[in-house]
Amino acid sequence: MFIKSIVLDGFKSYGQRTEVTGFDEQFNAITGLNGSGKSNILDAICFVLGITNLTHVRAASLQDLIFKSGQGGVNKATVSITFDNTNKSQCPPGFECYSEIVITRQVVMGGKNKYLMNGTNVPNKKVQDLFCSIQLNVNNPHFLIMQGKITKVLNMKPPEILAMVEEAAGTRMYEVKRQESQKM
Ligand code: ATP
Ligand code: MG
Repeated sequence: MFIKSIVLDGFKSYGQRTEVTGFDEQFNAITGLNGSGKSNILDAICFVLGITNLTHVRAASLQDLIFKSGQGGVNKATVSITFDNTNKSQCPPGFECYSEIVITRQVVMGGKNKYLMNGTNVPNKKVQDLFCSIQLNVNNPHFLIMQGKITKVLNMKPPEILAMVEEAAGTRMYEVKRQESQKM
């Protein structure tokens, strides 16, 4: 799966519906002036992927993610990501018949939020399970290297870098299990 397009509507600085297209399958760069909304696009992706620590998307509450925190005439924030699902070797189990998967997350004033999968309301868990099944865990501490964190990574010691790579590759749990079994 890879991102084909993102629609932001009422999310952070994107008060009006904005569609971001033209993604490459493997590598993408977003350019623009300071404060033009580049990081907000990454925040929008994290929002749909189900980030739980809102400080990572620079918000104190879900309501903060709404354009002007709901004080600018917009009362909800919606982000939809369309994933290309034509490569069946990377397809989440049960989604083989879909060439596209659209995941939408919406937050309304007061902070209540909901998810939609291909336009149908679904419980949070169903979306979590989908991303989990393709090892896409936005809440893995090493999944994201956000703005300002590069220096921290550059200053890491080799064992910390190894742990980070293992965590991101999904092999860390085996190392932990190996260490536990050696203690027995
Ligand atoms: P830089 O190059 O400095 O990293 P950037 O392009 O990454 O900039 P962002 O951080 O994406 O910029 O956007 C910052 C802008 O988004 C700021 O002007 C900020 O006021 C605005 N912004 C953040 N949250 C909201 C919100 N809830 N409503 C309206 N605007 C918001
Ligand atoms: Mg930025």
